[in-house]
Amino acid sequence: MSLRIAVYYDEIGLKGKNRPFFEHKLKAAVRTALAGAAAVRVRTFVGRLLIEIDDEAAWDRAAQALGRVFGIAHFGRVWHAECDLDAIARTALAFLPENEGLSFAVRARRADKTFPMTSPEINRLLGAKILEARRWRVDLENPAITLHVSLIGTRALVSWEHVPGRGGLPLGASGKVACLLSGGIDSPVAAYRMMRRGALPVFVHCHGFPYTTRAGQEKARRLAEILLRGQGAHPFWQVPLAEIQQRIIADCPEALRVLLYRRFMFRLAERIAAREGAQALATGEALGQVASQTIENMAAVAAAVSLPVLRPLVGYDKKEIVAEARAIGTYEVSIERHEDCCGYLVPPHPATRSTAAELDAAEAALPLAELVAASLAAAERHELTAPASAP
Ligand code: ATP
Ligand code: MG
Repeated sequence: MSLRIAVYYDEIGLKGKNRPFFEHKLKAAVRTALAGAAAVRVRTFVGRLLIEIDDEAAWDRAAQALGRVFGIAHFGRVWHAECDLDAIARTALAFLPENEGLSFAVRARRADKTFPMTSPEINRLLGAKILEARRWRVDLENPAITLHVSLIGTRALVSWEHVPGRGGLPLGASGKVACLLSGGIDSPVAAYRMMRRGALPVFVHCHGFPYTTRAGQEKARRLAEILLRGQGAHPFWQVPLAEIQQRIIADCPEALRVLLYRRFMFRLAERIAAREGAQALATGEALGQVASQTIENMAAVAAAVSLPVLRPLVGYDKKEIVAEARAIGTYEVSIERHEDCCGYLVPPHPATRSTAAELDAAEAALPLAELVAASLAAAERHELTAPASAP
């Protein structure tokens, strides 16, 4: 027997004429997540996806993989039955639990009106058949078990457990974004938020090697791999910043160091975005979290690039970001100690209210184009993937 799973999406169901586009992206994402499972078929079916896997025992693995697919509201196992109340009851009783004393409700939906009964009638008659077989009670308000029945033409789809999905939009539905990924707590959460809204990620990590160890790069790479579980292959760029930092330290005012480092990161990410076809940059900045994240400094730094800089965490408290980092599985890696190139020779009193003009003036001493070109020439691009089944 094969395993059947129905996948429900809410937001993408609302997109009118774009709906086939979103469904196509979701199908592709589901196929990617389930790669490796025995023969998988995925098709759209009256406002949901129907997955069929030639391995009835694959549920646990499939559920873990689908739980990581962006754009899914919820999903659950479904069973087919003939469109006849006795057949539906038989099918349902074969998979429903047998514990006594449970409360339940039947919720039928008719996709078309060919079936000769109304939904309330089906609910009532099917409920009675369940009651003949189980010592249960009906509770329409707050049932422990809800038996879902969809009548579609000559077939009934029967299900009961719904597993919540990640929500959002399917990966690839919202273009491509260069995600600036440090080894910290915030930027992986920011990248996750962008991916959850459908943006394909291009990860950009700037490192201070050889003035810092390789450990920071490894950490960023592991964070990217956590974000990519089950999402297919996406680029991860490791970009050297050390030479640029040396020049900034030698030639620019100390109080502006962090902001100037950041400006170069943005410039490098913008160049990579152009190569990769990404339309925006994304960072993990949150308003006021640290000195470099005042509105003035955000504006002064971003003035160095022309692509939009998206900051999905701008209105988050640190506590909220930490909670989300835990939920998506990046927190434990983020808090490992490492040297970050950003902490490199950072002054005790960084500027909190810089202007673009001030930063431009500070950079006048530097050969901008040359430094950017040299760093990009030494950058490494890796195509990263991580299996959906990774813990
Ligand atoms: P995070 O927790 O993401 O490191 P943070 O609160 O420490 O963020 P900053 O160090 O000010 O903040 O960095 C702001 C943002 O700049 C980061 O969220 C990230 O998007 C980007 N960034 C910082 N360091 C790097 C780096 N080494 N490589 C790439 N991007 C970086
Ligand atoms: Mg940081």
